[in-house]
Amino acid sequence: MSLLNEAYIRIILPALQPESYGGLAGLLQHYRKLEGNTLEQNRKFQWAALLRLLTHAYQSSPFYRRRMDEAGVRPNANLTPRDFAKIQPLTRDDIRTHLAELCSDRFAPEELAEAATGGTTDTPVAILRSRSSLPEKNAAQLCFNRWAGFEPGDKVFYLWGARQDYSENPSWRWRLYDRHLMRRVWAPTSLFNESVLESYRISLNRFRPRIIYAYPTPLALFSEYLRDSGKEFHRPTSAILTAEPLLENQRRVIEETLGCRVFEHYGSREFAMIAGECERHQGLHLNPAVAFVEFVPVEGAEVEGLHEILVTDLLNYGMPLIRYRVNDCVLLGAEACACGRGYPLIRQITGRTTDVFHLPNGDFVPGVALTNRVLKVCPGLKKVQVIQEALDFFRVRYVPGADFVPADLDLLRTNLKKFFSDIVDWTFESVADIERERSGKTRFCISFVGRSEKVLIAANALK
Ligand SMILES: [Zn+2]
Repeated sequence: MSLLNEAYIRIILPALQPESYGGLAGLLQHYRKLEGNTLEQNRKFQWAALLRLLTHAYQSSPFYRRRMDEAGVRPNANLTPRDFAKIQPLTRDDIRTHLAELCSDRFAPEELAEAATGGTTDTPVAILRSRSSLPEKNAAQLCFNRWAGFEPGDKVFYLWGARQDYSENPSWRWRLYDRHLMRRVWAPTSLFNESVLESYRISLNRFRPRIIYAYPTPLALFSEYLRDSGKEFHRPTSAILTAEPLLENQRRVIEETLGCRVFEHYGSREFAMIAGECERHQGLHLNPAVAFVEFVPVEGAEVEGLHEILVTDLLNYGMPLIRYRVNDCVLLGAEACACGRGYPLIRQITGRTTDVFHLPNGDFVPGVALTNRVLKVCPGLKKVQVIQEALDFFRVRYVPGADFVPADLDLLRTNLKKFFSDIVDWTFESVADIERERSGKTRFCISFVGRSEKVLIAANALK
């Protein structure tokens, strides 16, 4: 770690964003100590944290008091994991319908911050976090970054988000702040074609980042472009990938092209980052201080050993999330990792997946870019799935919410147009539910335009 990294940890980040990074150095030290514990020590520590949260929720959240009473569960020192598992899991619908009584009455509204990132097949629900939990959550994420060789202050190239998420003409102050102080550059992923990818190559070469932080599908596409372009490009030290599961072929093309190691991270907007790969790459370690994760075997799954996860957020006391069904599945990992960290392992995440859409004009749109922009702004829709049936024909399946009005579809149409303009046709189809598949995947974006056809079109577009 350089002096510059030290300065970012001790002075610059806490001074720039005290609410997010207050006490960062101490928190990083705290997590480093936990990594050195045994799994057993951390399990005990984690169970004590879970009991504290349950007691707090029982005393200050009417929703959870009722849930625990119904299950005959009292948070006390004799509680066992089996007792805990009697509490009914929390769903997105529960959050939608019981938001006020779910939050702890010990927190004033100004002590809660709205979580504003991410998105899945389901349209996002309001998630509030106690402001006091933000430094711990951010420090946990920085620890996962650290395993990937990314220290605060290192230069990062973000292949991230949709063009609509960024101001087209950011002020010069913002540019200075972002590029020179936060040391980051953004490359949106909403529309790819040769000229966009070439501009990203030039930006990468100019900025020379140590880290690329990206969605897996867009970075795999960008890597293929770099490999096939025959032009010079800067190689980072590592790539960190998150927001959708990383496929083995994507990992391979990114590692081979960029000549760097790839690290997958797992989190969600509901509970932030909870797992990441270490330098041994044997799966993802769960940080036991930030979440208590339960594994429920999935009946009739296509894959042997598939488990659905239930996540209890151990840090957010403002709006407790207890046994939360995020609707992602995992394969369990080995008991211990060669790195020696006392954090449990999961081998693989199978969750929200998205295909790449290929348009008649040769442009392509990674489905993952739609998650924030298309869904977040359509509150009347409970779930949405976008299916490309042919090059120029899309079918959108949606589950109407309780407050659904036809205008919600107009909004959805307008949002989709930002990505696809008028070159494709749409049909909208109301359905009762969009189920998780037997593979454990929840497919938000599906493309039936054949893989070979897609590759060909992409290759032609780049020539
Ligand atoms: Zn490890």
